[in-house]
Amino acid sequence: MGRKAEEPDPEEELARPISAAPREGPLAQPIGGSGIRVPPRLVEGLNRKGLERVGDLLFLLPRTYEDRRRLSTIRELRPGERGVAVGTVRMARDLMIRPGKRGFQAVLADETGSIALTWFQSGPWMKSRVPVGKRLIVSGELRATAGGREMVHPEIEPADEGRGPSLHTGRIVPVYPGFERHEQRQVRELVARVAAAHLAAVEDPLPPELRERLGLPPLAQALARIHQPAPDDDLGALDQHRSPAHRRLAFDELFLLHLGLALRRQGVKHEPGIAFRVDGERLARARGLLPFTLTRAQARAVAEIGRDMARPEPMHRLLQGDVGSGKTAVAAVAAALAVEDGWQVALMAPTEILAAQHHATFARVFGKTDVEVALVTGTGSGSEKRRTREAVESGRARIAVGTQALIQEGTAFERLGLVLIDEQHRFGVLQRQALGQKGRRPDVLVMTATPIPRTLAMTLYGDLDLSVLDELPPGRTPITTRVATPPRHPEVWEAVELELRKGRQAYVLYPLVEASEKVDLADATRGAEELQARWPHRRVELLHGRLKQEEKDAVMEAFRAGRVDVLVCTTVVEVGVDVANASVMVIQNAERFGLSQLHQLRGRVGRGAAASFCYLLPSFAGGPDARERLEVLEQSTDGFVIAEKDLELRGPGEFLGTRQSGLPELSVANLARDQALSAVAAEEAKAIAAADPRLAGPQHRGLLRALEERWEGKLSLARVG
Ligand code: ADP
Ligand code: MG
Repeated sequence: MGRKAEEPDPEEELARPISAAPREGPLAQPIGGSGIRVPPRLVEGLNRKGLERVGDLLFLLPRTYEDRRRLSTIRELRPGERGVAVGTVRMARDLMIRPGKRGFQAVLADETGSIALTWFQSGPWMKSRVPVGKRLIVSGELRATAGGREMVHPEIEPADEGRGPSLHTGRIVPVYPGFERHEQRQVRELVARVAAAHLAAVEDPLPPELRERLGLPPLAQALARIHQPAPDDDLGALDQHRSPAHRRLAFDELFLLHLGLALRRQGVKHEPGIAFRVDGERLARARGLLPFTLTRAQARAVAEIGRDMARPEPMHRLLQGDVGSGKTAVAAVAAALAVEDGWQVALMAPTEILAAQHHATFARVFGKTDVEVALVTGTGSGSEKRRTREAVESGRARIAVGTQALIQEGTAFERLGLVLIDEQHRFGVLQRQALGQKGRRPDVLVMTATPIPRTLAMTLYGDLDLSVLDELPPGRTPITTRVATPPRHPEVWEAVELELRKGRQAYVLYPLVEASEKVDLADATRGAEELQARWPHRRVELLHGRLKQEEKDAVMEAFRAGRVDVLVCTTVVEVGVDVANASVMVIQNAERFGLSQLHQLRGRVGRGAAASFCYLLPSFAGGPDARERLEVLEQSTDGFVIAEKDLELRGPGEFLGTRQSGLPELSVANLARDQALSAVAAEEAKAIAAADPRLAGPQHRGLLRALEERWEGKLSLARVG
């Protein structure tokens, strides 16, 4: 029936209402106190799961649906297939699985036959749920074993006593997230009662004209259908949250997302900003600071940025391009334009190492001028820090490069006009705003190396204009990428040795995540020791986030200067450094990374003219799927192709990290799947934002309320309403 055989663990699953549940009005009444009698213990249980208000239940989206329009007889159940049947418990007993480990087994029978129900766990609760003589609905995959036919860990629910179709049988039945199977019945009944009493109070945020034009069902009707599907509804569509009712909810999510973005963008645009003086001569001078000619893509981006800067509205632009596509160079031109016009520039990087590198780059670019470039970081001595802060505050330093330290208290600018953010996926919207507030509505340029598929970029950064660097500077040789499973690892190390003999350098990268930090660090440490033992005459160094800043700097500097041959490091230390002589990168446990991230990482080699290599070493733990996934990187060097693939494989949530993005969450809509719907929603949102930017019209009252609730105050900057 197209559903996954294994059940998610209800403990880990959240019984969360989708974000549309209203926070005010009749639907915000507490579940226990809304005129519907609910046992206090059930209320407590619901509250513990975060279900507190009537609306939370109405907007609790079923996880799956079960087809109980016709229950099978036990004889009709087919081995290897999922099925739902009803029967009576004939026998129930504990099962000795092995000494000290008990299971539970029951026999379920109807007039056509019997099957065994087996659990590899037991306890008093099993006996109370499966007592002899009880009629149960069981659902699961039937297996034919030597001993007969059985279901292992079936889902069970008490059957209705007789009386034909009801909420629980004779129809398509919802299964709610966060509740055990034996609790479903109670939840289903409660939701049905709440729906009967309160659906009429559901306010439809969409203007009727829009809803009708797009052929969407009214919200209350959609909710009713989601909890109690009609007999002829498409089960597959319901299960995949693609039914017309689900589509209505998905549309609302996308529409409110786009509307919020559109209004925020308008709000930003309407604030007075700085109109920089930009002309052909100034542009030529700024470009002349670079030791090379811009690529066509860079020239286009510079022109777009120049045009934005010249306008009185603040620039809000995203500069997107692969690692090495020349974003920093473009940013330097923008900085030169701002500085020439008498303004200060802030450049924010996600790590200290990257900040140091950007500082070095900018110091080089502006070396022939008298422009002072300061490095503002969280480390260094107190007096040093005070000196740089003072240089920025007095305006002596015209450019300040730094980490988050830049947005923390204590760094003031004399005349901040342009903010450059090397995002690398690290900063949320809030941080951007914090830096934005340091000046008088400065222009903002965000650089990102994550090639986000265009449709997604429009959604995630819908309030930013977009420039894309889709062309690499000349003289690069493409990187050859190979996936090597454990038996082929020796060949990889031979290939690395070959590069080392040519005088080149190598990166060996280990993943590091907080949850398994100790193990990951140990892996990297052992890896470094092994490589040092393999090449006693080479210098192997280990770099990770736990080292002191001075140690990190020393190792990095030694690698940059070519004194270190092999740099073993964890990805906590973003290796965003430019070392042209490094020609090979080995990535351990590569299956633990997303494809886009791997693509970004491998961009650290191939920065010079030498042929470069990247070896992806999945561990045994990755399994055969890992290899297949990683092979995408063998075949493509196009960041956008890889991003699309990544999106397809991992889904947009993980890809975008929306939770950190400061945008409302999407529960029903899926940005990858619903691109067409999203485009329609965006268009309609734009039209409304243009026609009624304060949503003051009476037909927009519901919309305004829904918008404020959905964005939870994150829209305040746009001053909606
Ligand atoms: P990104 O910031 O996108 O990773 P960078 O701006 O750091 O890329 O550029 C990567 C490398 O390419 C740097 O060494 C830079 O000097 C060089 N580079 C950038 N643009 C050009 C160009 N138009 N021609 C030649 N080299 C360039
Ligand atoms: Mg860069």
